[in-house]
Amino acid sequence: MDIIQLLSDSIANQIAAGEVVQRPASVVKELMENAIDAHAKHIQLIIKEAGKTLIQVIDDGSGMSNTDARMCFERHATSKIRESGDLFAIKTMGFRGEALASIAAVAQVELKTKCAEDELATSIRIEGSEFKSQDFVQGPTGTNFIVKNLFFNVPARRNFLKSNPVEMKHIIEEFQRVALAHPEIKFSLYHNDIEIYNLPESKLSKRIIDTLDKNYRDQLATCQEDTPLIKISGYVGKPQLAAKRRGDQYFFVNHRFIKSSYLNHAVTSAFEATIAQGTHPFYVIFMEIDPSHIDINIHPTKTEIKFDDEKAIYAILRSAVKQAIGVYNLTPTIDFES
Ligand code: ADP
Ligand code: MG
Repeated sequence: MDIIQLLSDSIANQIAAGEVVQRPASVVKELMENAIDAHAKHIQLIIKEAGKTLIQVIDDGSGMSNTDARMCFERHATSKIRESGDLFAIKTMGFRGEALASIAAVAQVELKTKCAEDELATSIRIEGSEFKSQDFVQGPTGTNFIVKNLFFNVPARRNFLKSNPVEMKHIIEEFQRVALAHPEIKFSLYHNDIEIYNLPESKLSKRIIDTLDKNYRDQLATCQEDTPLIKISGYVGKPQLAAKRRGDQYFFVNHRFIKSSYLNHAVTSAFEATIAQGTHPFYVIFMEIDPSHIDINIHPTKTEIKFDDEKAIYAILRSAVKQAIGVYNLTPTIDFES
């Protein structure tokens, strides 16, 4: 007897969603990255009840056509790559075409979007992968994405969510990472109608203190190195900023936040005896590298990365940090007025 069946799209999407959408913060990350890829200059994040009832991202980016507005919810539907060769030259945050299909599988979604060429915006409602409505409406160019009642149809996942303060902490972390990666973009964050952040476009140094800690003013040393393999820029905190708590370490590779204990070691070891054992230096370091020399397609959340020349990058980074903390007394005072 034959017993094998193909799963329906909505079940397949729900299974895939398990990987991409772990908690409200995952939705925040995916929606904000889509806004970045759409070249938004202003991104608003609106949250209710730590994202459990509402996650809304409003951007003034390219928006979508009527057809694309529907198409974006299909699995493996993307405007960002076309053929396998493109995988080796990723310049966008997204490329898997999975996020929106996954989110729509496990939440009640409303999308309102308009591209510059179109007169009218498209409004779509989709719940648990089921299209509910599609209409032409008035609206500005850009995208307004509303995600309500995450995991409304997956009670086990919904019950698994942590308390509001914990889920909100994860959301703020994602928000901070994206905001740090793009000081040229205006961002705001509201939680339960209270403004948490309202960040004007600025220079990186100002974005760091606006986003993380006012006390970092005057505590940052410029970190810069230009080699054919990699271009490094950003700031390291002076040794006295080193802290017991982890989490104030930010690497961005081609503007994508990544975690790397290997490269963290390169930075930490460059501080040598200037910081106490067991403390972690503060840094926001950008690395620009030819996309063909890295592989970001290791995990759906793309926070891990493989470098072709890991050892060389380690050495260049370590030397750049050494130079930064060695000469910080000599560098002119940073001008924080953007
Ligand atoms: P990916 O980002 O990997 O392409 P997504 O599921 O996140 O996949 O999005 C699917 C497609 O929908 C994107 O490739 C893009 O064309 C479109 N899209 C999503 N969000 C936006 C947005 N905020 N503005 C414009 N287009 C968007
Ligand atoms: Mg995406």
